[in-house]
Amino acid sequence: NLQAGIVGLPNVGKSTLFNALVENGKAQAANFPFCTIEPNVGIVQVEDPRLKVLSSISGSKDLLPATVEFVDIAGLVKGASRGEGMGNQFLTNIRNTDAICQVVRCFEDDDIIHVAGKVDPLDDIDVINLELALADLTVLEKRVEKLKKGKKSSDQAERDEVELGALAKIQAAIEAGRGARTATLSRDEAAAVRGLGLLTLKPLVYAANVTEEDLASGGAENPHVKALRSRAAEEGVEVVVVSAKVEAELNELPKEEAREWLESLGVTDGGLSSLVRATYSTLGLQTYFTTGEKETRAWTIRKGMTAPQAAGVIHSDFEKGFIRAETISYSDYVKHGGYGGAKEAGALRLEGKEYVVQEGDVMLFRFNV
Ligand code: GDP
Repeated sequence: NLQAGIVGLPNVGKSTLFNALVENGKAQAANFPFCTIEPNVGIVQVEDPRLKVLSSISGSKDLLPATVEFVDIAGLVKGASRGEGMGNQFLTNIRNTDAICQVVRCFEDDDIIHVAGKVDPLDDIDVINLELALADLTVLEKRVEKLKKGKKSSDQAERDEVELGALAKIQAAIEAGRGARTATLSRDEAAAVRGLGLLTLKPLVYAANVTEEDLASGGAENPHVKALRSRAAEEGVEVVVVSAKVEAELNELPKEEAREWLESLGVTDGGLSSLVRATYSTLGLQTYFTTGEKETRAWTIRKGMTAPQAAGVIHSDFEKGFIRAETISYSDYVKHGGYGGAKEAGALRLEGKEYVVQEGDVMLFRFNV
């Protein structure tokens, strides 16, 4: 299961957000085996309105949404890359995640101390990103030193050249203050450095934590959010506006009151579901569906997976014995009122081993046992 790490300076709202994510998951988990693996790891459902639509067509009893794991990585402070705070431990925890969700404080509140004395999102992300970049540079330097040493076969020398080329590009990107993810790498180069676990190469989402007044406008009136958005655009990183506090308070309220409060704020939620969806997609994940009388289920695959690989997510036997996949796009399934109608209309495709599964495909696998 892929994990996203929640990072950020102290007092920006990480724990509030993490707890809201976990509580929200519990509240919605009527027939879903929700669990917290460790105190700081939560499995969160990816809300998807398509599940309801599909289940009403196929008459399913149960709905099973896709999930993504969030890890609360507290305590990243200035100097972490030099081992300050519990620096190295935190960097190791981040290294073990697949993506980073960086919480950025965009709310003013005199009662809540800001570590740098004032709310300044650009300053805050510079501090965090610099620590991550410094940690990466240490890894880079060690790796370059190692690659340059010793005699090697010509095959190995060639591979090392590719990697050294990639490392040089990454180093330039980091030194320009933009993080490894902005380096343009060929497919081979990307593969060569994948194992290094570089922190600034991990996909990133900024969660702009705002107060309730800013939710409806998406932070359009909030100068901190504006500044964050323009920086993120330069970096090619997505910003999601969320209110950790609103989400936390929603979990305390009876359903009807929660609904009324949201209505008065002019929103349908506190931004949590958008954050989860953005994280899911940043992780390079997508969804296909199976649907029938028993259940409608969203399955998670990596973008680019073939039909047999997608089948293997359900069960390894499905992959081994794969024959073909009866495939209907989500929109065709809805348009033609389900399997039968889609088949009649010629919208059901028989896809083979090479088929790359598309977002929202409704699939039925045929396989040998
Ligand atoms: P962490 O150190 O990043 O984990 O931050 P916490 O989640 O512990 O939050 C620090 C303090 O800020 C807590 O008292 C929260 O209630 C408060 N807080 C979090 N989000 C918001 C928000 O959106 N608005 C306001 N006013 N306070 C918030």
